[in-house]
Amino acid sequence: MNMIFLGAPGAGKGTQAEVVCKELNIPAISTGNMLREAVKNGTPAGLAAKECMDRGDLVPDDVVIGILKDRIAQDDAKNGFILDGFPRTVSQAEALDKMGVQIDKVVEINVPDEKITARMSGRRVCEGCGNSYHIEYKPTKVEGVCDACGAKVVQRIDDKPETVKARLATYHEKTAPLKDYYAAKGKLVTVEGQEEIAETSKLTLAAIKG
Ligand code: AMP
Repeated sequence: MNMIFLGAPGAGKGTQAEVVCKELNIPAISTGNMLREAVKNGTPAGLAAKECMDRGDLVPDDVVIGILKDRIAQDDAKNGFILDGFPRTVSQAEALDKMGVQIDKVVEINVPDEKITARMSGRRVCEGCGNSYHIEYKPTKVEGVCDACGAKVVQRIDDKPETVKARLATYHEKTAPLKDYYAAKGKLVTVEGQEEIAETSKLTLAAIKG
């Protein structure tokens, strides 16, 4: 099954994508994680992306589409995948269609902006493997250390309050129109994000299986 997880930054789509990919044994493909990796490694895509990411803007479509195309061509994506954070614009969705990628379901995790702003201040990410945590809702076992790989867990520059505001504005302007795009194709299911991650996961799995 090929799926897209849609939602405002901080709505928890990455966390839910990790849960569902374990359940279904398919990879969760996060363009945000791939771009952060590219920035860290100083690749041409990373150099093109860094300034946009730090400002809370979207990275140009051609850069992201190139990265995504290479990733979904890999062997582990043959039996299905979850796209986390892609597409983020209607033109990226059209690019997926042009590539001939069949999408079975688009899961929107819906959380109001006020809740997101409050949540984002506690969000942390592993510098090593990109796993995501939250100091309140999903803490690491040892403070500041990733449970999965032992690397340092930090706050992303773009999770700072001013940048979060910009990212939410970008989401409403450029990404939210995708809800209509996929609803018109009969693919959209909406899950109301809950306080408890496990509760949202139950609803998400039910929405996928339903
Ligand atoms: P994320 O981890 O999904 O919140 O992504 C972090 C940042 O990476 C975003 O704020 C964008 O700057 C960039 N990014 C990730 N995915 C995309 C995409 N599909 N299109 C454009 N920019 C993206």
